[in-house]
Amino acid sequence: MFKKNNLELNKKNIEDVLSQAVFTGTDEKVLEKNSLLNVQIFGDEIILDFEIQNPTLQYKKKVEQICLGLINKKIDSNLKVKVNFTIKKIQEDNKIKGSPIPGVKNIIAVSSGKGGVGKSTISANLAVALSQLNYKVGLIDADIYGPSMPIMFDLVGEAPKAVEVEGKKKMRPLENYNVKMVSMGFFTELNTAIVWRGPMVHQAIEQLFRDTKWPGGDFMIIDLPPGTGDVQLSLSQLCEITGAVIVSTPQDVALIDAVKAAQMFKKVEIEVLGIVENMSFFACPKCGEETPIFSRHGAENKCSQMDTQFLGAIPIEIDVRKGGDEGKPLMAGNHDSPATIAFNNIADNLVRVLEEG
Ligand code: ADP
Repeated sequence: MFKKNNLELNKKNIEDVLSQAVFTGTDEKVLEKNSLLNVQIFGDEIILDFEIQNPTLQYKKKVEQICLGLINKKIDSNLKVKVNFTIKKIQEDNKIKGSPIPGVKNIIAVSSGKGGVGKSTISANLAVALSQLNYKVGLIDADIYGPSMPIMFDLVGEAPKAVEVEGKKKMRPLENYNVKMVSMGFFTELNTAIVWRGPMVHQAIEQLFRDTKWPGGDFMIIDLPPGTGDVQLSLSQLCEITGAVIVSTPQDVALIDAVKAAQMFKKVEIEVLGIVENMSFFACPKCGEETPIFSRHGAENKCSQMDTQFLGAIPIEIDVRKGGDEGKPLMAGNHDSPATIAFNNIADNLVRVLEEG
């Protein structure tokens, strides 16, 4: 129903209305960093073409909701709005060069503030859990300082084969447990340390992305090095990340750095999709008693401060550690334990968060 003061439905009025749109709780105009390229009206449906800088699903959803809200309020509450997004390519200090992994729907960076909290273990098990939900899953071991995926996936000593794609040599990822994977560990000796300098880091990360013939798929899990260094920066410049998952143990020393990791993602406009609390407690396999070795619920309690969701808690279990050491992640075996349930829940929660946007 048209209200008395409502504007007439035409292209010019839609453009005027949207030029006033601001992000909720800020005074930043939606069209400050983004451009409205086109407006089309088909009966009661309006199609908007937006060029945006931030490629995350959450950001797209925000823009969509703000446009819909304003158009419904100022023009007609019965109008439907559909928004098509393209990603702005060039912005000198924060370049997003388009997706280097074409055909992958969700690129998820798994990160932690500190080393040793189980980030790689979770990347590996999450990748396998998602593949068991029938998603096509790839994994990039971007932890170039300590690549552990070749061990965790029993691929030590194997090397990816080269294939030619449009005249360029690319590598074909290796595969185990239905997860396709590349790792710097395939090209370096297991016991040799490499001193990575800034430009080399960027090159190495670029190779794992661009010089690999990825077949496309539903998920690409990226196991990042701990902390907030060069790899994180390269990644944010190279690739349209759907979002980041932060892994932390529940105790304060780990959480301080997890908060820093979340802040870093915010700075480069990557959405933090959620937090996983690892080593949440030890469940005694004999009596079932749960001991909170690192003080339980710490990460869960930090979620609101980090403005993100809690994806789940994984207990300490011998089979989790064994799975990593023996080259068969827990989720690839036939286990039925609290950690197995936890990994399944986390995979489900991640899918839900992505669906909700
Ligand atoms: P990060 O990638 O954060 O450095 P890792 O994934 O390499 O950490 O894990 C560090 C060590 O802790 C590994 O030996 C791993 O097997 C073990 N570990 C990780 N999570 C668990 C868990 N939930 N239960 C038992 N051991 C674990």
